[in-house]
Amino acid sequence: MDAAYNARASAARNSSFAERSVYSSSRAVDRGGTKDQAAPRPRGDPSFLFHAPLTTLIAGVNGSPFVHVDLFTINIRGRNIDDAPRIQVLNQRPQRQVLRLGQRWDAVDQIRLPRQMRKNRDAIQIHFGQKKPRALEIAETPDAPDGGEHALAAREQPPGHAFAREPKSENDHTPTLYFAWMLKPATLKPTIFREYDIRGIADAELPSEGVRLLGQAIGTYLIRHDSRQINLARDCRLSSDRLHDALLAGLLAAGCHVTDLGVVPTPLLYYSVFHLKAGGGVMITGSHNPSDYNGFKVMHGKSTIHGEEIQKILRLIQSADFETGEGSLRCVDIATPYVDEIAAQFRLPRRVRVVSDAGNGTAGPVFRRILEKLNCDSIELFFDMDGRFPNHHPDPTQPENLQHLVAAVLANKADVGLAFDGDSDRIGAVDEKGNILYGDQLMIVYAREILSRKPGATIIGEVKSSQNMYDDIRRHGGNPIMWKTGHSLIKARMQETHAELAGEMSGHMFFADRYYGFDDALYAACRLLEIVSNATAPLSSQLSDLPRVESTPEIRVDCPDEKKFSVVKAVRERFQRDHEVIDIDGARINFGQGWGLIRASNTQPVLVLRFEAQTAELLNQYRKQVEDAVAEASRQES
Ligand SMILES: [Zn+2]
Repeated sequence: MDAAYNARASAARNSSFAERSVYSSSRAVDRGGTKDQAAPRPRGDPSFLFHAPLTTLIAGVNGSPFVHVDLFTINIRGRNIDDAPRIQVLNQRPQRQVLRLGQRWDAVDQIRLPRQMRKNRDAIQIHFGQKKPRALEIAETPDAPDGGEHALAAREQPPGHAFAREPKSENDHTPTLYFAWMLKPATLKPTIFREYDIRGIADAELPSEGVRLLGQAIGTYLIRHDSRQINLARDCRLSSDRLHDALLAGLLAAGCHVTDLGVVPTPLLYYSVFHLKAGGGVMITGSHNPSDYNGFKVMHGKSTIHGEEIQKILRLIQSADFETGEGSLRCVDIATPYVDEIAAQFRLPRRVRVVSDAGNGTAGPVFRRILEKLNCDSIELFFDMDGRFPNHHPDPTQPENLQHLVAAVLANKADVGLAFDGDSDRIGAVDEKGNILYGDQLMIVYAREILSRKPGATIIGEVKSSQNMYDDIRRHGGNPIMWKTGHSLIKARMQETHAELAGEMSGHMFFADRYYGFDDALYAACRLLEIVSNATAPLSSQLSDLPRVESTPEIRVDCPDEKKFSVVKAVRERFQRDHEVIDIDGARINFGQGWGLIRASNTQPVLVLRFEAQTAELLNQYRKQVEDAVAEASRQES
């Protein structure tokens, strides 16, 4: 139960119709709906469950003029309502049934709904159109055979969240059981609209009705940017089908012409926008996040939108500013042209023995088709899609997720091991000795090959990447650029600088050289197979000439979303006093013989730390300095 709704319940409980005025849950709601201590609690006869100017109500449901109620009989009374509201029943699918059109909103309207609705946990939606009523009350009526209040005492109250009162007079038809607990957000919390995608816990934060509105908002955004043709794809997570149905309904309601690609890797959605010349696309995916997460990556043209553009979509939902039209839907097989185009690019001169771990994500079925066309012996791990990810978490940046792969590479005497995240836009790799190649080491391997053909090429790395990588690119005649973490941001920077290659520690690899410039782990895997096949020496020897440095993997420290940015800021300011600090993204502190990084994750409530130094002693020393500063900043923030 959301504290805001409890607050609203207690506020309404203590307010009478006469004195309700503007007093409402507004303060609790306006602050984001999490705290209620500022709300006054006037004494008086508890008459109304819920009363607030609708602007407040709108804020309470994140800006959409909808209210959801889970119950079977309600009274609704509104004042100064110009439009007759539409009252609809929603079930779990985005289908709807209009039960009744309210006409007389100066009086109490009563709606009776089948008990079955409550069993189904269906919702009632009250839609006010563009004209907003100034006041609104919602409450349940006793649904008793003798017709009313008398049954009240015998009625069991829902635990904790409902309350009852005796009628004030004979003329008092105010409902007697009030349901604050049933008011729930119809749409999406603003916090899930992140820097480079829209992402949350599927069951808790991505309700179908909210996702339908998101679809209509994305459709509206793209249509207004002359992009009515939209490609839609999803990953194999258990919640993806539901989110797909809801999002599709919204896209069609906006009037989009949708091409549905089904369950495919994220890079195939990117590819489809090029191949089918679409105006944009939406990928439904939780990427490498735990299996209960899901989210949306939105393409406008050939770019993934980020930052302010994602906020514009949120504002379309908040203002209910939607296009409407007659959409259309077709389904297309994108895997066949994709597999043909990729496989045609590679001729492996020497047969490569490769182990691949698809982690039960989307990579398996498509990568198998590519490998069948290449000169290699393929050993498959977890190629069947399973959205529960039963074998290991689909995140190849975490060494524990690569243990099956390492073991299989050694057992099979393979030349190379490959791993993919849940939606196949991130690659992991191990050499023939079972050593993990982190993102910046892979970048060195890729960059050297490109620079051997394209001297002077621009190559982009992120703030977490090793100094070795930047130095090596420069030593091989390249132009290295350090940039922010985040696939949308890297992609955008790449287009601005005409870079040939970009890459992140997370395994997002972007090839503009010979390819389209989007992050495609299946394509990156083929590039690595090609390098291994062309090399005379094993993969482990390719990086043996690099200066020795000690480094940590990504260290993730739990930190609440609302605190993480201020902690980073405090640590940055602490070190800026006496160190050189690169502040492109968080703080990369130069300690002289190494560096330390702290930044806030855009996708999880964590701080990301990484360290590199010339010796293990220095590494520990730098790490301790930063971790102490983080601990101190966290204490001060709480
Ligand atoms: Zn991913």
